[in-house]
Amino acid sequence: MSTNVSTTPPSSAADGAIRNGREALYPQEVWWMISCTIALLISLRAISWLWNYRKIHSIRQASPTTTPANDVELQTKPPNNVNPLMKAGLSVLSLTRILAFRFSYSIGYGSRISLAEALTPAAYLAALLTWELINTRDLSGVEFSTKYWANRAGAMAASQLTFVVALAGKNNIISFLTGISYEKLHIIHRAAARSLLVLIFIHLSARKKLGFVGDDSLTIGWIRCGIAAGSALTTLVILGNRYIRSKMYEGFLIIHHFFVLIILCCLIPHAGSGGYAKFVWPALLLWGLDRLLRLSRIIYSTYLQHRTSIPTKASIEVLSSDALRVTVTLRRSKLLHWRPGQSVHLCVPVASPFWHPFEFHPFTIATIPTDVSIASKSDVEKAMHDDNMQMKFIIRARDGFTARLHHYAWDSAVNAGRGRDPRFVKAYLDGPYGAPPSVDAFQNLVCIAGGSGVSFTLPLLMDVVRRNISNPQGLLCRRVLFVWSIRDIEDLDWIASDLRKTLSSVSSSLEVEVCVFVTGTRRGIAMNSTTSVKETVEIDTKNLLTLEKNAADRVEEAQTSDSEHATKFSGGDADALLRDRTVSVSSGRAQVTEILAEESRRSEGSSMLVCVSGPTSLATSVRSALCKSSIAGVGAAMRGTNVSLHVEGFAVA
Ligand SMILES: Cc1cc2nc3c(=O)[nH]c(=O)nc-3n(C[C@H](O)[C@H](O)[C@H](O)COP(=O)(O)OP(=O)(O)OC[C@H]3O[C@@H](n4cnc5c(N)ncnc54)[C@H](O)[C@@H]3O)c2cc1C
Repeated sequence: MSTNVSTTPPSSAADGAIRNGREALYPQEVWWMISCTIALLISLRAISWLWNYRKIHSIRQASPTTTPANDVELQTKPPNNVNPLMKAGLSVLSLTRILAFRFSYSIGYGSRISLAEALTPAAYLAALLTWELINTRDLSGVEFSTKYWANRAGAMAASQLTFVVALAGKNNIISFLTGISYEKLHIIHRAAARSLLVLIFIHLSARKKLGFVGDDSLTIGWIRCGIAAGSALTTLVILGNRYIRSKMYEGFLIIHHFFVLIILCCLIPHAGSGGYAKFVWPALLLWGLDRLLRLSRIIYSTYLQHRTSIPTKASIEVLSSDALRVTVTLRRSKLLHWRPGQSVHLCVPVASPFWHPFEFHPFTIATIPTDVSIASKSDVEKAMHDDNMQMKFIIRARDGFTARLHHYAWDSAVNAGRGRDPRFVKAYLDGPYGAPPSVDAFQNLVCIAGGSGVSFTLPLLMDVVRRNISNPQGLLCRRVLFVWSIRDIEDLDWIASDLRKTLSSVSSSLEVEVCVFVTGTRRGIAMNSTTSVKETVEIDTKNLLTLEKNAADRVEEAQTSDSEHATKFSGGDADALLRDRTVSVSSGRAQVTEILAEESRRSEGSSMLVCVSGPTSLATSVRSALCKSSIAGVGAAMRGTNVSLHVEGFAVA
């Protein structure tokens, strides 16, 4: 009779059992931490909804909807009515916002991140390393026993794959639940991927220390798969650095898709050898699902929603030497709806190399689904049943796709001898995406945009005006200040038609003020058809317009100082805008600190939402203005003013 006698020393077997137990337990604990954080964010969002709902109802009950916009006393509580507890709460909220979101730091290539965006990934890495290194003393008393943390690092890394992939998707479940936009989650996605790499290097160095021998020999397939996955992740993290992304975003995207597939496919056998393939499959599934959803959205918006096999046509118009407008007309559909401020990924094959249909770029939809020029509820219903809706995009030409699209539009317009008439081209849409802020619970809205950033703020204004007519009970907003900085007075034409329509629909219970700042000189391609596309000219608009009290005087001055502009504007929408008494035009940069100080003073005892979109420098100025105590800090809170800020960045974070 033979008996099986174990050759493993008892302490080593006990060590193994403890090690394996912790290796299985700690990744679960990390997931609990992540789940609790997400649950906390969801709860905060729910509390904010409930708070806003209560606030809207109590203010609505206190003041009738017919309160005229200029009767500020009736619309807002006087500051001394705000109770001390509320003031203390607002002060804490303001300080937290200033510290976490308004102090921002440059991270190069036109991007800045807030303290919250910097600290979240750091806290995540610290948590991973804590779980990786705690309780690593073996039974013989050796601290940081390699065997304890070698495979634990691998298990932790595998367990985080699904989270890293979930952060990256455009159809993002975390964004849907927490209301954090997918672009912001991408910052955490990249940081989480770097944390994963740290764990993988820890895993690799520990395995090397233990030796690649016997069952762990480098000749074994699943070990090689692990090395391939680690190498692919290392390459991705290196190529994903800001410099490379800003220089060759398209190339980076292609490599990214390819390498992610390599990582996930190689990790299935590698993690599977330790029983952790269960962590990899959900990541692969989520990745595939996001692609499938994106493809379905593209097919729906391109073909199905207008029930034809011919793809959607977009019209492209040259607006200036470095800007163009793309308009896509779609059939009204319940499945294709967007919120003001959301963006879509647009593909226009004529502007891609070899006309390939795979190059998608994000652009903000500068319109809203329902036309703003409706005046009564019955008209709203009519508009709801209107068959078509338009998505417009205002695009600034840079060096890649956008420059090619601009050149295409310009060349074809010149070749056809049709000046700036639109051209119709095939286009594909993927979206809408993004989590723009809700303006419902704010009495005052301040929109500050620079250049093409207006495509974010214009739909916010349109939506407030439209809802103020169709459902005044649904929002508190009584005043909108719309600030737009442009380089050239001609740029007013980009949105003149939509802005004019919007302003002419403003009801008496809403006050809208538009301030346009013309900042100066543009270098670019001359916009008259007799000039060659390659020729660059300098159009000096310095001192073109000076601030005038009277709109008619402004037009007159424009006519005398630049007859070309005057001719262009006469009788058009821009001309009408210049005559509108709610529109003021000034030369020079917008003094955002003064503007915001004035708006904060007007908003005493109420709430104000500031939305900024455009160049990073503009967002930085707004952020620093809102760090000032008297504008949005403790000083403002003591007056009962609650100031929120939303920064919409077009730069790659
Ligand atoms: C949510 C969002 C909304 C935007 N809305 C607008 C808008 O309404 N109007 C507008 O003019 N611009 C908008 N942008 C910026 C616009 O997407 C980029 O300017 C455009 O993709 C640049 O393409 P390009 O090939 O000409 O860039 P390049 O000249 O090659 O590069 C210029 C910059 O754009 C970045 N970039 C290039 N491709 C992409 C891409 N696919 N996704 C993101 N960034 C990219 C590059 O990294 C680089 O920093 C938006 C960006 C985002 C993220």
